[in-house]
Amino acid sequence: MSLELFINQMAEMESLVPREPKGGRKVAQPTFTRQVVTVVGLKTTAARFLPVSHEGHSNETYVDKVEVLGKQRAEFIARKLKGIERRAHMALFRELAARVNDGEWQPFFEEHFGTPCVIPDGLCIACWNCSLFGGLDAAGQRATFSRARYFDTYSVEETLACVSMLESEEGMGIGNQVYEDMVANKEGKARGRGSETYHLYEYVKAGTHFPFITLIESPTLLDVTGYLHAVRRADAHGYGKYSANHGKFDTLFLAVATGYPRFSVLDMLEWAEAGALETRFANGEAQFDALDEAAVLTGDGIDTLADKLQEAFGEYVAALG
Ligand SMILES: [Zn+2]
Repeated sequence: MSLELFINQMAEMESLVPREPKGGRKVAQPTFTRQVVTVVGLKTTAARFLPVSHEGHSNETYVDKVEVLGKQRAEFIARKLKGIERRAHMALFRELAARVNDGEWQPFFEEHFGTPCVIPDGLCIACWNCSLFGGLDAAGQRATFSRARYFDTYSVEETLACVSMLESEEGMGIGNQVYEDMVANKEGKARGRGSETYHLYEYVKAGTHFPFITLIESPTLLDVTGYLHAVRRADAHGYGKYSANHGKFDTLFLAVATGYPRFSVLDMLEWAEAGALETRFANGEAQFDALDEAAVLTGDGIDTLADKLQEAFGEYVAALG
């Protein structure tokens, strides 16, 4: 019942079809409904994770940390979450496009959007990915707003417990710069081996928890199902510095609901510390404000929704014509 209520509140697939101005190039349509979907979850590190948004010293890497609710915590900024999930979403999109186009995604993009879309410097500003995540074209002439809104998040655990650093029992990690650069960039040439090829780094330990909230504005069924799958892909790919071999996560989706959340990431940190995060969502105590009646999916309801990806993509292809 709630799944039907949820799907009925989604925007029409036509809203993802780019408009074509006279004599101009195709461009994604602007946001046109006031509806929003909130996706709430808890990410748990499955391996070492290096959330690093600043330039460090040449051979030392420090995890982003910030004081929140009276504790120093590891910080996972919205921009980094979004960047990785956008790339994962594009990989998924290409795969789905290839599946309906004799195994080739590129001609599909050229036909429908005028160009293959490349993140970050060759965005087409017309495709599903650009419609959802926004951006500016290479010439700086056409832009589209992001409909996906991310928020900074923080570790439930204190840094002294969840970050391996100089002050902690384990101390900092010791890495081989050449090896990691080569993994990150397979074309990379090894530099001469010496002490400078080793570096010290802090990392968030496996088993650390980060609650998150993502909003999708003017959501179509394809946006929501695609986002859920993109998160799974990003978890397997890795977030953060040296994501080729670090930064794997497990994500538990707590709720997917129409409407805005009546709570923040900070509330979720407090609920998690009290051991009550999952029950808040299972009991319906965590609430949402929707234009109509909020449709809240949890547990198996979220899996059933995610299973509609293929069907929703078929509708998108039909709408593109
Ligand atoms: Zn695009």
